[in-house]
Amino acid sequence: MAVERTLSIIKPDAVEKGAIGSILATFEAAGLRPLAIKMVRLTELQARGFYAVHKERPFFASLVQFMTSGPVVVSVLEGEAAIARHRELMGATDPTKAAPGTVRAQWATDIERNAVHGSDAPETARVEISYFFDATQIQGPVEALA
Ligand code: ATP
Ligand code: MG
Repeated sequence: MAVERTLSIIKPDAVEKGAIGSILATFEAAGLRPLAIKMVRLTELQARGFYAVHKERPFFASLVQFMTSGPVVVSVLEGEAAIARHRELMGATDPTKAAPGTVRAQWATDIERNAVHGSDAPETARVEISYFFDATQIQGPVEALA
């Protein structure tokens, strides 16, 4: 297994529910170490850009509205197989299908307002991390950022 980095977002619904600490604790307890964390309110342009891969989907406009409806907590998490591990901890996109104990089973409202985002592959993780953080905002040796 390789040490990876993933981009994690605690979405507006989970922030509103007061779940920031619980969700970050779940990730840390599973060995995912935060290298950067910030709370931001996404602009419409930022949300559209982040989810551009979904721009033809019927739920796109609603998803952008949701993601800009309140602050989000964006973090870079590092650990062994961090991308897959983080997605396991999140659970399925649709919380009715998410395994018991997962973050989405515990905190999601519905398939759209589903509490968390996580990168789905090394290349998307790289793009998503650089979407939110400069290299100098991420903890760790400079060589590891290259
Ligand atoms: P994310 O990319 O946020 O980590 P995911 O990879 O599990 O979630 P995607 O298929 O990439 O799921 O969808 C991106 C986001 O779009 C979902 O997390 C959810 O907020 C929203 N979404 C996905 N499918 C639907 C749907 N059928 N109806 C409404 N919203 C949806
Ligand atoms: Mg996705």
